[in-house]
Amino acid sequence: MPSHEHTLTCSVTVLGSGSQGNSIAVRCGDSTLLVDAGFSARDTIRRLDACGIDAASINAILLTHEHGDHVRGIRVLAKRLDVPVYASPGTRRAAKLEELVDDPRDLQHGYAVTVGEFEVIAFRTSHDAADPVGLRFESRDGTVIGIATDTGEFTPEACEALTGCTILGIESNHDIDMLTSGPYPWFLKQRILSTRGHLSNVAAAEALETVAHDGLSQVIALHLSTTNNEAPRARTALTGVLSRLELTTQVVCAHQNTPPSVE
Ligand SMILES: [Zn+2]
Ligand SMILES: [Zn+2]
Repeated sequence: MPSHEHTLTCSVTVLGSGSQGNSIAVRCGDSTLLVDAGFSARDTIRRLDACGIDAASINAILLTHEHGDHVRGIRVLAKRLDVPVYASPGTRRAAKLEELVDDPRDLQHGYAVTVGEFEVIAFRTSHDAADPVGLRFESRDGTVIGIATDTGEFTPEACEALTGCTILGIESNHDIDMLTSGPYPWFLKQRILSTRGHLSNVAAAEALETVAHDGLSQVIALHLSTTNNEAPRARTALTGVLSRLELTTQVVCAHQNTPPSVE
């Protein structure tokens, strides 16, 4: 038996991820934080239930940015769970959060806030939203969980904030060839490919290469496009980097609707 009684059990459970909706449960010990509320309250609670997570155990909801696929359920969900909602100042304004939830709380870039078991730090991402952020969660036993989704490039802030992760959720939105030769209109392709769009499989792999280390136990590919990507392509890009670095990190691809649980 390992002898570290103080080691917390930490996990990331993706309730769903993709352009139809996003919500991720980050758990350590007795604390569960929800990143984004892109499903209706009823659907979120159903997904939590399907993943074996008691909705009453959730301590707070944190929002990455104001796009509908990340905030759609926030008003009813925050009320039903009766938990505080955290967002960056720009996201608060853009989402009109004051009108939706009681007493929203600030996530300032680079400043730590304590929420449940976690110290949470928001960092800047690059996306066509008012003030988008990624999140670094550090538990009191030193476990680090990083979430970076909806970002057209892996920012220097992301690179710095996501060093030393135990579990990393990173966007792997599209395969560049599938997107460019696919059915999306030109303007939408340009938007996705821009530095304020979404990370491709190749860009996710490059980002992973900068932060991978032998303490990284899992990588979760997030926000896969159902039109412009396939899980094996995202997986191959990420595992290619890991095997080159001789790391045994597990790779999981998140789905829009089938919640895979990762522990
Ligand atoms: Zn999104
Ligand atoms: Zn977005």
